[in-house]
Amino acid sequence: NKDVLVIGAGGVASVTLHKMAMNRDLFLGRIAVASRTLSKCEAIAKSVKDRTGQVIETYQVDADDVAQTVALIQTVKPALLVNLALPYQDLALMEACLQTGVHYLDTANYESPEEAKFEYSHQWKLHDQFKQAGLMATLGVGFDPGVTSIFATYVRQHYLSGIRQIDILDCNGGDHGHPFATNFNPEINIREVTADVKHWENGGWITSPAMSTSVPFDFEAVGEKNMYLMYHEELESLVTHFPEIERARFWMTFGDAYINHVTVLQNVGMTGIDPVEYEGQQIIPLQFLKAVLPNPGDLGERTKGKTNIGDIITGPAKDGSGEKTYYIYNICDHEECFREVGSQAVSYTTGVPAMIGAALMLNGTWSGAGVFNTEQLDPDPFMELLNKHGLPWQVVELSGPVDF
Ligand code: NDP
Repeated sequence: NKDVLVIGAGGVASVTLHKMAMNRDLFLGRIAVASRTLSKCEAIAKSVKDRTGQVIETYQVDADDVAQTVALIQTVKPALLVNLALPYQDLALMEACLQTGVHYLDTANYESPEEAKFEYSHQWKLHDQFKQAGLMATLGVGFDPGVTSIFATYVRQHYLSGIRQIDILDCNGGDHGHPFATNFNPEINIREVTADVKHWENGGWITSPAMSTSVPFDFEAVGEKNMYLMYHEELESLVTHFPEIERARFWMTFGDAYINHVTVLQNVGMTGIDPVEYEGQQIIPLQFLKAVLPNPGDLGERTKGKTNIGDIITGPAKDGSGEKTYYIYNICDHEECFREVGSQAVSYTTGVPAMIGAALMLNGTWSGAGVFNTEQLDPDPFMELLNKHGLPWQVVELSGPVDF
């Protein structure tokens, strides 16, 4: 069985589905998509048909309801479920996979809608159940998390004998012309940037206030940008799987206008996730804010510029020649992505890795029983497919460790 079922029909799912249909040598079976809103699935299927001539089956499902997903899986009978809905649905979808004997892949770790706190514990807890069922769940197969951890494993396997320090640098140099918009789901994005910052240093987490530490960095193909220290989920899995890591940090660039908007919105309470009563109705401020902000899926047409995401990694050289520092990164162009699949680069850099991960699981290149993060799997076949499918990467040696 090579059939695949994608859950979610947003910006990322659209890219993944287009790329699956464009690569029928990797996706030999049926391709199906299901989301809460059937019309979104149909719109993607139409675009895929127009661009590639390939047929995508469409279904409606509320993925919060395990019984509904189980029934859907029993109808579609896929070998693999690719979760491109929201992090809130991860556990329900993993449970549905366990009940039906289907492999699982996602791009973001579970978060409870009631608490803006994401950690892998909930999904890692399911390891034994997946193992006993002989099923594989691969977590976080987007760009970050996903490619950034695969980059780390690749450098650790081919250049270094361990990682002493890792800095993950995520730069979006794109301009969409709006005064304020998020480049993926606004609710998840704003919860992430307003959360307390954590980074790993000498065996423990150091906490600091959101957006309180920034440094300028000159990104190739983009130019100098301020990047802010943030917590990001791959820090947790990287320090778990590579226990030699002394320091792990994650940085993301934001323009001054973005920071000003988020600060004001936070100060006035619009980023809150506790319900407030308004004219007899319960409203969650952040969800209302999402409703009035531009839809990230519609930004593609107007976004220009490039993204540059990668890791700077320092550790002992594999050949014993002392400590070495490598920078491994991808540059992606918003307009080229739009031409190819009708989406901007943030959806593209997430959707293509999900497509590649799905292909490697379907053909058995990535296999195993249990719950895995990407750094636990063989990076080489994945790195090869990144080069082939629109996300070429390069690795350069730097003169020494980062000095920020
Ligand atoms: P969107 O908001 O564009 O799309 C989310 C989709 O999920 C929508 O189609 C939505 O359907 C659907 N959905 C939400 N709730 C349910 C439900 N209960 N049942 C069924 N479908 C549901 O998000 P993105 O495409 O931007 O992001 C998708 C995922 O990718 C997110 O988890 C995000 O965190 C992750 N991500 C990961 C990155 C990485 O590098 N690892 C980077 C960017 C994103 P509807 O609209 O009908 O409600």
